[in-house]
Amino acid sequence: MRTIDDLDVRGKRVLVRADLNVPLDGDRITDDGRIRASLPTINALRERGAKVIVCAHLGRPKGEVKPEFSLAPVARRLGELLGAEIAFASDVVGESARAVAAGLGDGQVALLENLRFEPGETSKDDAERGAFADRLAALAELYVGDGFGAVHRKHASVYDVPRRLPHAAGGLIVAEVGVLKRLTENVERPYAVVLGGSKVSDKLGVIDNLLDKADRILVGGGMVYTFLAAQGHQVGKSLLERDQIDTVREYLARAEKAGVEFVLPVDIVAATAFAADADHEVVPADAIPADRMGLDIGPASGRLFAERLAGTKTVFWNGPMGVFEMEPFAHGTRAIAQGLIDSGAFTVVGGGDSAAAVRTLGFDEAAFSHISTGGGASLEYLEGKTLPGLSALED
Ligand code: ADP
Ligand code: MG
Repeated sequence: MRTIDDLDVRGKRVLVRADLNVPLDGDRITDDGRIRASLPTINALRERGAKVIVCAHLGRPKGEVKPEFSLAPVARRLGELLGAEIAFASDVVGESARAVAAGLGDGQVALLENLRFEPGETSKDDAERGAFADRLAALAELYVGDGFGAVHRKHASVYDVPRRLPHAAGGLIVAEVGVLKRLTENVERPYAVVLGGSKVSDKLGVIDNLLDKADRILVGGGMVYTFLAAQGHQVGKSLLERDQIDTVREYLARAEKAGVEFVLPVDIVAATAFAADADHEVVPADAIPADRMGLDIGPASGRLFAERLAGTKTVFWNGPMGVFEMEPFAHGTRAIAQGLIDSGAFTVVGGGDSAAAVRTLGFDEAAFSHISTGGGASLEYLEGKTLPGLSALED
Protein backbone atom coordinates (compact mmCIF):
# COMPACT_ATOMS: atom_id res chain seq x y z
CA MET A 1 0.00 0.00 0.00
CA ARG A 2 1.42 3.39 -0.96
CA THR A 3 1.59 5.96 1.83
CA ILE A 4 1.57 9.75 1.61
CA ASP A 5 5.38 9.64 1.57
CA ASP A 6 5.06 8.15 -1.91
CA LEU A 7 2.98 11.06 -3.24
CA ASP A 8 4.32 14.40 -4.39
CA VAL A 9 1.66 16.61 -2.84
CA ARG A 10 3.25 20.07 -2.82
CA GLY A 11 0.93 22.64 -4.36
CA LYS A 12 -1.59 19.91 -5.26
CA ARG A 13 -5.22 19.62 -4.26
CA VAL A 14 -5.48 16.43 -2.20
CA LEU A 15 -8.87 14.91 -1.37
CA VAL A 16 -8.68 13.18 2.02
CA ARG A 17 -11.45 10.71 2.90
CA ALA A 18 -11.54 10.95 6.70
CA ASP A 19 -13.81 9.38 9.31
CA LEU A 20 -15.36 12.26 11.24
CA ASN A 21 -18.54 10.40 12.19
CA VAL A 22 -18.70 11.66 15.79
CA PRO A 23 -21.59 11.40 18.27
CA LEU A 24 -23.55 14.66 18.58
CA ASP A 25 -25.96 16.00 21.16
CA GLY A 26 -27.72 18.71 19.13
CA ASP A 27 -24.72 20.49 17.63
CA ARG A 28 -22.42 19.64 20.54
CA ILE A 29 -19.82 16.94 19.84
CA THR A 30 -19.85 14.52 22.78
CA ASP A 31 -16.70 12.58 21.78
CA ASP A 32 -14.18 14.07 19.33
CA GLY A 33 -11.93 10.98 19.26
CA ARG A 34 -12.39 10.41 15.53
CA ILE A 35 -11.58 14.04 14.69
CA ARG A 36 -8.40 13.82 16.77
CA ALA A 37 -7.45 10.56 15.07
CA SER A 38 -7.66 12.26 11.67
CA LEU A 39 -5.29 15.11 12.57
CA PRO A 40 -1.88 13.48 11.92
CA THR A 41 -2.59 12.80 8.25
CA ILE A 42 -4.11 16.24 7.65
CA ASN A 43 -1.15 17.90 9.39
CA ALA A 44 1.39 15.82 7.48
CA LEU A 45 -0.19 16.91 4.20
CA ARG A 46 -0.27 20.57 5.28
CA GLU A 47 3.39 20.47 6.24
CA ARG A 48 4.19 19.11 2.80
CA GLY A 49 2.41 22.07 1.20
CA ALA A 50 -0.74 20.30 -0.02
CA LYS A 51 -4.09 21.97 -0.47
CA VAL A 52 -6.15 19.64 1.72
CA ILE A 53 -9.80 18.98 0.90
CA VAL A 54 -11.33 16.77 3.59
CA CYS A 55 -14.49 14.79 2.91
CA ALA A 56 -16.44 12.67 5.41
CA HIS A 57 -19.91 11.49 6.37
CA LEU A 58 -21.99 12.00 9.49
CA GLY A 59 -24.82 9.66 10.48
CA ARG A 60 -27.34 8.37 7.97
CA PRO A 61 -29.13 11.24 6.17
CA LYS A 62 -29.91 8.75 3.35
CA GLY A 63 -29.05 10.91 0.35
CA GLU A 64 -30.97 13.97 1.48
CA VAL A 65 -29.81 17.33 2.81
CA LYS A 66 -30.79 17.24 6.48
CA PRO A 67 -29.43 20.13 8.58
CA GLU A 68 -29.18 18.01 11.73
CA PHE A 69 -26.53 15.93 9.92
CA SER A 70 -24.46 18.94 8.82
CA LEU A 71 -20.70 18.68 9.33
CA ALA A 72 -20.60 22.37 10.38
CA PRO A 73 -19.95 21.56 14.09
CA VAL A 74 -17.20 19.17 12.99
CA ALA A 75 -15.63 21.91 10.83
CA ARG A 76 -15.49 24.18 13.89
CA ARG A 77 -13.91 21.50 16.09
CA LEU A 78 -11.45 20.48 13.36
CA GLY A 79 -10.38 24.11 13.02
CA GLU A 80 -9.87 24.41 16.78
CA LEU A 81 -7.78 21.23 16.93
CA LEU A 82 -5.69 22.16 13.89
CA GLY A 83 -5.32 25.74 15.09
CA ALA A 84 -6.19 26.84 11.58
CA GLU A 85 -9.04 28.36 9.62
CA ILE A 86 -11.17 25.72 7.86
CA ALA A 87 -12.95 26.62 4.64
CA PHE A 88 -16.30 24.83 4.98
CA ALA A 89 -18.23 24.09 1.79
CA SER A 90 -22.01 24.21 2.16
CA ASP A 91 -22.41 21.40 -0.39
CA VAL A 92 -20.52 18.26 -1.37
CA VAL A 93 -19.70 18.62 -5.05
CA GLY A 94 -21.64 21.76 -6.01
CA GLU A 95 -20.79 25.39 -6.54
CA SER A 96 -19.63 25.96 -2.97
CA ALA A 97 -17.34 22.90 -2.98
CA ARG A 98 -15.77 23.92 -6.29
CA ALA A 99 -15.21 27.49 -5.12
CA VAL A 100 -13.72 26.37 -1.80
CA ALA A 101 -11.41 23.87 -3.52
CA ALA A 102 -10.25 26.44 -6.08
CA GLY A 103 -9.59 29.06 -3.41
CA LEU A 104 -7.25 26.96 -1.22
CA GLY A 105 -3.63 28.04 -0.76
CA ASP A 106 -0.76 25.62 -0.07
CA GLY A 107 -1.06 24.17 3.45
CA GLN A 108 -4.70 25.26 3.81
CA VAL A 109 -7.60 22.97 4.71
CA ALA A 110 -11.21 22.74 3.52
CA LEU A 111 -14.04 20.45 4.63
CA LEU A 112 -16.89 19.45 2.33
CA GLU A 113 -20.45 19.04 3.61
CA ASN A 114 -21.70 15.55 4.60
CA LEU A 115 -20.98 13.09 1.76
CA ARG A 116 -24.21 11.22 2.49
CA PHE A 117 -26.31 14.27 1.53
CA GLU A 118 -25.63 12.94 -1.99
CA PRO A 119 -27.48 9.73 -2.96
CA GLY A 120 -24.55 8.74 -5.19
CA GLU A 121 -22.25 8.24 -2.20
CA THR A 122 -23.96 5.10 -0.87
CA SER A 123 -25.78 3.97 -4.02
CA LYS A 124 -25.68 0.26 -4.86
CA ASP A 125 -25.91 1.21 -8.52
CA ASP A 126 -22.36 1.36 -9.93
CA ALA A 127 -23.26 3.99 -12.54
CA GLU A 128 -24.93 6.32 -10.04
CA ARG A 129 -22.05 5.93 -7.60
CA GLY A 130 -19.55 6.39 -10.39
CA ALA A 131 -21.16 9.60 -11.61
CA PHE A 132 -20.92 11.05 -8.11
CA ALA A 133 -17.33 9.80 -7.78
CA ASP A 134 -16.46 11.64 -11.02
CA ARG A 135 -17.66 14.92 -9.55
CA LEU A 136 -15.86 14.33 -6.25
CA ALA A 137 -12.61 13.35 -7.99
CA ALA A 138 -12.83 16.48 -10.17
CA LEU A 139 -12.28 18.63 -7.06
CA ALA A 140 -8.73 17.31 -6.56
CA GLU A 141 -5.59 15.97 -8.21
CA LEU A 142 -4.70 13.32 -5.62
CA TYR A 143 -6.59 11.10 -3.16
CA VAL A 144 -5.66 9.94 0.33
CA GLY A 145 -7.82 7.26 1.99
CA ASP A 146 -7.77 7.69 5.76
CA GLY A 147 -11.35 7.00 6.89
CA PHE A 148 -10.73 3.65 8.51
CA GLY A 149 -14.23 3.47 10.03
CA ALA A 150 -15.78 3.52 6.54
CA VAL A 151 -13.25 1.36 4.71
CA HIS A 152 -15.54 -1.68 4.70
CA ARG A 153 -18.15 0.23 2.71
CA LYS A 154 -18.37 0.12 -1.07
CA HIS A 155 -19.13 3.83 -1.17
CA ALA A 156 -18.10 6.38 -3.80
CA SER A 157 -15.67 8.31 -1.60
CA VAL A 158 -14.10 5.10 -0.29
CA TYR A 159 -14.11 2.74 -3.27
CA ASP A 160 -14.66 4.66 -6.54
CA VAL A 161 -12.66 7.87 -6.11
CA PRO A 162 -9.31 6.11 -5.52
CA ARG A 163 -9.83 4.35 -8.85
CA ARG A 164 -10.00 7.77 -10.51
CA LEU A 165 -7.03 9.56 -8.92
CA PRO A 166 -3.43 8.75 -7.96
CA HIS A 167 -3.82 7.63 -4.38
CA ALA A 168 -2.24 6.57 -1.12
CA ALA A 169 -3.27 5.40 2.35
CA GLY A 170 -3.17 7.91 5.19
CA GLY A 171 -1.40 7.31 8.49
CA LEU A 172 -4.53 6.20 10.35
CA ILE A 173 -5.32 3.42 7.88
CA VAL A 174 -1.68 2.32 7.86
CA ALA A 175 -1.73 2.14 11.67
CA GLU A 176 -5.08 0.33 11.89
CA VAL A 177 -4.12 -2.25 9.28
CA GLY A 178 -0.79 -2.81 11.03
CA VAL A 179 -2.62 -3.63 14.25
CA LEU A 180 -5.10 -5.93 12.50
CA LYS A 181 -2.19 -7.83 10.95
CA ARG A 182 -0.80 -8.44 14.44
CA LEU A 183 -4.17 -10.00 15.31
CA THR A 184 -4.25 -12.31 12.30
CA GLU A 185 -0.69 -13.11 11.16
CA ASN A 186 2.13 -14.53 13.32
CA VAL A 187 0.12 -13.71 16.44
CA GLU A 188 2.03 -13.69 19.74
CA ARG A 189 0.49 -16.35 21.98
CA PRO A 190 -1.45 -16.97 24.10
CA TYR A 191 -4.07 -15.03 22.12
CA ALA A 192 -7.40 -14.19 23.78
CA VAL A 193 -10.44 -12.70 22.08
CA VAL A 194 -13.13 -11.07 24.23
CA LEU A 195 -16.52 -10.50 22.63
CA GLY A 196 -19.64 -8.82 23.92
CA GLY A 197 -22.01 -6.02 22.96
CA SER A 198 -25.45 -6.25 21.50
CA LYS A 199 -24.95 -7.05 17.82
CA VAL A 200 -24.82 -10.82 18.23
CA SER A 201 -25.02 -11.94 14.63
CA ASP A 202 -22.44 -9.30 13.59
CA LYS A 203 -19.89 -10.94 15.82
CA LEU A 204 -20.49 -14.61 15.09
CA GLY A 205 -18.54 -14.26 11.83
CA VAL A 206 -15.52 -13.13 13.81
CA ILE A 207 -15.75 -16.18 16.03
CA ASP A 208 -15.99 -18.35 12.94
CA ASN A 209 -12.74 -16.94 11.56
CA LEU A 210 -10.83 -16.59 14.83
CA LEU A 211 -11.67 -20.10 16.06
CA ASP A 212 -8.57 -21.33 14.23
CA LYS A 213 -6.38 -18.48 15.45
CA ALA A 214 -7.25 -17.71 19.07
CA ASP A 215 -6.29 -19.80 22.08
CA ARG A 216 -9.30 -18.72 24.07
CA ILE A 217 -12.51 -16.82 23.41
CA LEU A 218 -14.29 -15.05 26.27
CA VAL A 219 -17.93 -14.18 25.72
CA GLY A 220 -20.09 -11.68 27.60
CA GLY A 221 -22.58 -8.92 26.76
CA GLY A 222 -25.84 -9.54 24.96
CA MET A 223 -24.45 -12.33 22.80
CA VAL A 224 -23.73 -14.60 25.74
CA TYR A 225 -27.39 -15.56 26.15
CA THR A 226 -27.40 -17.24 22.76
CA PHE A 227 -24.41 -19.27 24.02
CA LEU A 228 -26.14 -20.13 27.28
CA ALA A 229 -29.24 -21.16 25.34
CA ALA A 230 -27.07 -23.32 23.07
CA GLN A 231 -25.88 -25.12 26.22
CA GLY A 232 -29.51 -25.79 27.09
CA HIS A 233 -30.02 -23.11 29.76
CA GLN A 234 -33.03 -20.83 30.20
CA VAL A 235 -32.18 -17.16 29.63
CA GLY A 236 -35.44 -15.50 30.73
CA LYS A 237 -36.06 -12.18 28.99
CA SER A 238 -32.40 -11.68 28.00
CA LEU A 239 -31.31 -10.79 24.48
CA LEU A 240 -31.47 -13.99 22.43
CA GLU A 241 -31.03 -14.82 18.76
CA ARG A 242 -32.89 -18.08 18.46
CA ASP A 243 -31.96 -18.59 14.81
CA GLN A 244 -28.27 -18.56 15.77
CA ILE A 245 -28.42 -21.20 18.48
CA ASP A 246 -27.43 -24.03 16.11
CA THR A 247 -24.53 -22.02 14.72
CA VAL A 248 -23.29 -21.30 18.23
CA ARG A 249 -23.59 -24.96 19.19
CA GLU A 250 -21.46 -25.83 16.17
CA TYR A 251 -18.81 -23.26 17.23
CA LEU A 252 -18.69 -24.75 20.71
CA ALA A 253 -18.16 -28.23 19.22
CA ARG A 254 -15.49 -27.02 16.77
CA ALA A 255 -13.67 -25.20 19.57
CA GLU A 256 -13.61 -28.31 21.70
CA LYS A 257 -12.10 -30.32 18.85
CA ALA A 258 -9.50 -27.65 18.09
CA GLY A 259 -8.52 -27.22 21.72
CA VAL A 260 -9.75 -23.62 21.80
CA GLU A 261 -11.13 -22.65 25.19
CA PHE A 262 -14.51 -20.88 25.36
CA VAL A 263 -14.87 -18.93 28.59
CA LEU A 264 -18.49 -18.16 29.45
CA PRO A 265 -19.76 -16.29 32.52
CA VAL A 266 -20.62 -18.30 35.61
CA ASP A 267 -22.90 -15.62 37.06
CA ILE A 268 -25.12 -12.92 35.62
CA VAL A 269 -26.62 -9.65 36.89
CA ALA A 270 -30.30 -10.23 36.14
CA ALA A 271 -32.77 -7.31 36.20
CA THR A 272 -36.54 -7.03 36.03
CA ALA A 273 -36.39 -4.41 33.27
CA PHE A 274 -34.00 -2.59 30.93
CA ALA A 275 -33.57 0.38 33.27
CA ALA A 276 -30.92 1.77 35.61
CA ASP A 277 -33.30 1.64 38.58
CA ALA A 278 -34.67 -1.83 37.84
CA ASP A 279 -34.52 -4.37 40.63
CA HIS A 280 -31.52 -6.65 39.99
CA GLU A 281 -29.65 -9.56 41.54
CA VAL A 282 -26.68 -11.80 40.81
CA VAL A 283 -27.79 -15.28 39.72
CA PRO A 284 -25.92 -18.37 38.45
CA ALA A 285 -25.55 -18.26 34.66
CA ASP A 286 -27.49 -21.53 34.37
CA ALA A 287 -30.40 -20.30 36.50
CA ILE A 288 -31.64 -17.00 35.08
CA PRO A 289 -35.23 -16.52 36.32
CA ALA A 290 -37.88 -16.51 33.59
CA ASP A 291 -39.03 -12.95 34.38
CA ARG A 292 -35.53 -11.39 34.37
CA MET A 293 -33.01 -10.25 31.78
CA GLY A 294 -29.24 -10.49 32.00
CA LEU A 295 -27.74 -7.03 31.75
CA ASP A 296 -24.17 -7.71 32.89
CA ILE A 297 -21.81 -10.54 33.73
CA GLY A 298 -21.58 -11.10 37.48
CA PRO A 299 -18.63 -10.42 39.83
CA ALA A 300 -17.34 -14.01 39.83
CA SER A 301 -17.32 -13.91 36.02
CA GLY A 302 -15.42 -10.62 36.07
CA ARG A 303 -12.74 -12.30 38.21
CA LEU A 304 -12.73 -15.42 36.03
CA PHE A 305 -12.33 -13.39 32.82
CA ALA A 306 -9.51 -11.27 34.29
CA GLU A 307 -7.78 -14.47 35.39
CA ARG A 308 -8.08 -15.94 31.87
CA LEU A 309 -6.52 -12.78 30.41
CA ALA A 310 -3.53 -12.88 32.76
CA GLY A 311 -0.46 -14.28 31.05
CA THR A 312 -1.76 -13.75 27.50
CA LYS A 313 0.41 -11.96 24.95
CA THR A 314 -2.30 -10.68 22.59
CA VAL A 315 -5.87 -9.62 23.41
CA PHE A 316 -8.58 -8.33 21.09
CA TRP A 317 -11.69 -6.99 22.81
CA ASN A 318 -14.89 -5.97 21.05
CA GLY A 319 -18.18 -5.27 22.78
CA PRO A 320 -19.07 -4.25 26.35
CA MET A 321 -19.78 -7.04 28.85
CA GLY A 322 -23.02 -5.43 29.96
CA VAL A 323 -25.18 -2.34 29.63
CA PHE A 324 -22.32 -0.16 30.90
CA GLU A 325 -24.27 3.04 30.19
CA MET A 326 -26.22 2.24 33.38
CA GLU A 327 -24.00 2.17 36.47
CA PRO A 328 -25.52 -0.99 38.06
CA PHE A 329 -24.53 -2.92 34.91
CA ALA A 330 -21.08 -1.42 34.28
CA HIS A 331 -19.07 -3.67 36.59
CA GLY A 332 -18.32 -6.44 34.09
CA THR A 333 -17.07 -4.03 31.44
CA ARG A 334 -14.88 -2.32 34.04
CA ALA A 335 -13.45 -5.68 35.12
CA ILE A 336 -12.57 -6.61 31.53
CA ALA A 337 -10.98 -3.24 30.77
CA GLN A 338 -8.86 -3.59 33.91
CA GLY A 339 -8.10 -7.21 33.00
CA LEU A 340 -6.74 -6.11 29.62
CA ILE A 341 -4.56 -3.47 31.24
CA ASP A 342 -3.23 -5.86 33.91
CA SER A 343 -2.47 -8.59 31.36
CA GLY A 344 0.51 -6.67 30.00
CA ALA A 345 -0.38 -8.13 26.59
CA PHE A 346 -0.63 -6.32 23.26
CA THR A 347 -4.22 -5.10 23.79
CA VAL A 348 -6.60 -3.89 21.10
CA VAL A 349 -10.02 -2.42 21.79
CA GLY A 350 -12.36 -2.42 18.78
CA GLY A 351 -15.91 -1.10 18.47
CA GLY A 352 -17.41 2.33 18.94
CA ASP A 353 -19.25 1.50 22.15
CA SER A 354 -16.31 -0.39 23.63
CA ALA A 355 -14.03 2.60 23.00
CA ALA A 356 -16.67 4.91 24.48
CA ALA A 357 -16.97 2.59 27.50
CA VAL A 358 -13.24 2.75 28.13
CA ARG A 359 -13.39 6.54 28.11
CA THR A 360 -16.62 7.07 30.05
CA LEU A 361 -15.65 4.53 32.72
CA GLY A 362 -12.57 6.65 33.35
CA PHE A 363 -9.78 4.46 31.96
CA ASP A 364 -6.68 6.05 30.45
CA GLU A 365 -6.75 5.38 26.70
CA ALA A 366 -2.96 5.17 26.74
CA ALA A 367 -3.18 2.11 29.01
CA PHE A 368 -4.27 0.06 25.97
CA SER A 369 -1.95 -0.70 23.07
CA HIS A 370 -4.51 0.40 20.49
CA ILE A 371 -8.09 1.67 20.45
CA SER A 372 -9.53 1.25 16.99
CA THR A 373 -11.56 4.00 15.34
CA GLY A 374 -13.51 1.50 13.26
CA GLY A 375 -15.62 -1.20 14.87
CA GLY A 376 -17.38 -2.56 11.80
CA ALA A 377 -14.27 -2.28 9.64
CA SER A 378 -12.04 -4.15 12.08
CA LEU A 379 -14.66 -6.87 12.59
CA GLU A 380 -14.97 -7.45 8.84
CA TYR A 381 -11.20 -7.60 8.53
CA LEU A 382 -11.05 -10.17 11.34
CA GLU A 383 -13.82 -12.12 9.63
CA GLY A 384 -11.39 -12.47 6.73
CA LYS A 385 -13.49 -10.37 4.34
CA THR A 386 -12.04 -8.15 1.62
CA LEU A 387 -12.60 -4.50 2.53
CA PRO A 388 -13.51 -2.43 -0.58
CA GLY A 389 -11.68 0.67 0.62
CA LEU A 390 -8.47 -1.23 1.30
CA SER A 391 -8.50 -3.10 -1.97
CA ALA A 392 -9.06 0.18 -3.85
CA LEU A 393 -6.01 1.67 -2.09
CA GLU A 394 -3.89 -1.39 -2.85
CA ASP A 395 -4.58 -1.32 -6.61
P1 ADP B 1 -19.33 -2.06 19.88
O1 ADP B 1 -19.86 -0.73 19.40
O2 ADP B 1 -18.23 -1.91 20.86
O3 ADP B 1 -19.01 -2.98 18.76
P2 ADP B 1 -22.01 -3.11 20.19
O4 ADP B 1 -22.52 -1.97 19.38
O5 ADP B 1 -22.10 -4.46 19.63
O6 ADP B 1 -20.51 -2.79 20.69
O7 ADP B 1 -22.80 -3.19 21.58
C1 ADP B 1 -22.78 -2.14 22.51
C2 ADP B 1 -24.03 -2.14 23.30
O8 ADP B 1 -24.30 -3.42 23.82
C3 ADP B 1 -23.97 -1.19 24.48
O9 ADP B 1 -24.80 -0.09 24.23
C4 ADP B 1 -24.48 -2.06 25.65
O10 ADP B 1 -25.44 -1.38 26.44
C5 ADP B 1 -25.11 -3.22 24.94
N1 ADP B 1 -25.18 -4.44 25.78
C6 ADP B 1 -24.16 -5.04 26.41
N2 ADP B 1 -24.60 -6.09 27.13
C7 ADP B 1 -25.92 -6.16 26.94
C8 ADP B 1 -26.95 -7.03 27.41
N3 ADP B 1 -26.68 -8.02 28.24
N4 ADP B 1 -28.20 -6.81 27.00
C9 ADP B 1 -28.48 -5.79 26.16
N5 ADP B 1 -27.57 -4.94 25.67
C10 ADP B 1 -26.29 -5.11 26.05
MG1 MG C 1 -21.79 -0.14 18.62
